[in-house]
Amino acid sequence: MAFTLNAYPVVYRAKYAAGAWTEEYLEKPHKTPAEEAALSERERRELEASRNVYADMPLVSYTSQYGLSVFEGLKALPQKDGSLAVFRPDRNAERFHNSMRGLRMPPFPKDAFVAACVETVRRNAELGFVTRYKTEWEKDSYMNADSVYIRPFTYSEGGIGVGLSKEPWVVVVCTPVSAYFVPGLSGAITSKRIRATANGTGWIKAASNYVVSAIAKQEAAEAGYMECVFLDAAERKYVEEGSSCNIFFSLKSGELVTPELGDTILPGITRASIIELARERGVAVSERKIGIEEALDETKECFVSGTAAGATPIESLTHDGKKAVFNGGTTGELTASIRDTLKGIQYGALRDTKGWMVKVR
Ligand SMILES: *Cc1c(COP(=O)(O)O)cnc(C)c1O
Repeated sequence: MAFTLNAYPVVYRAKYAAGAWTEEYLEKPHKTPAEEAALSERERRELEASRNVYADMPLVSYTSQYGLSVFEGLKALPQKDGSLAVFRPDRNAERFHNSMRGLRMPPFPKDAFVAACVETVRRNAELGFVTRYKTEWEKDSYMNADSVYIRPFTYSEGGIGVGLSKEPWVVVVCTPVSAYFVPGLSGAITSKRIRATANGTGWIKAASNYVVSAIAKQEAAEAGYMECVFLDAAERKYVEEGSSCNIFFSLKSGELVTPELGDTILPGITRASIIELARERGVAVSERKIGIEEALDETKECFVSGTAAGATPIESLTHDGKKAVFNGGTTGELTASIRDTLKGIQYGALRDTKGWMVKVR
């Protein structure tokens, strides 16, 4: 399993009170990474569980009762030159800020967000908790490469009545990740469920949005699909996105389409990066509504995008019993080339001409 909770020992926390943020770094119980690797499965699980506690976290809070929380997901990637760098943390800082404002919390300063992410990764790396660059990753375009996943999130003060958080905490944890999607299972199916509605919170990376996503993804998995695809709530006709990833359709006409942002679609940073990379190579990219019928009939290649997914090809899309197979069920040329460029920049194998990578050490 690629995405597990084996958090690194150093955790960041900022508490908001009386108009100011107070920061601290906590070093949780740990041994050296080599000693931890030598532990039995049970011992290792116990040690990891001992890190996943926070003594003074309120038991009853707006977060634990009502899912009032926002989060982010970004990565620090080992670079080909031996250094370590985070991909576009300023963009996550901005989205986190917007998300907190969207849920009417006092927003966390953007520069403090970037500093907290970089510093948490750096402190863990200094204790040896870091993944190292391997040349063998280059052979399959970093499809099986490791990285450090950074998860910033908010937690509310104690509270039992339905309410908003006035004194949130911002916590940053890190965990190692490898490839996210299981190879060989890359079909998607539309979900009958509704992830987001107009005037709702779909555009916010809000914890409460992911209950429906998790249910829909589980239903898709039970039916033998890797991903579920949500349609718009109003007309049940337009493609919106996946469970936790945006979606792109490369049409037979040459146009690359991704659903336009609004209040029901999460503005992915990978999505924005891919749009920029595709436009630079002369691909006509449209951010517009795309109906499910057009997607099924006109698509040459399809892929989903996200921090965890990178750009992952979708070999088929099924809707109402109608299945469209894209590019003969293999990874298309445009998908592969966008994926390789993105990964190349992220792992420092291609020159970062845009200043997307922020050095950790
Ligand atoms: C996080 C997320 C994405 C992808 O965003 P990235 O910034 O590219 O990781 C897309 N859709 C949803 C619903 C998400 O939660």
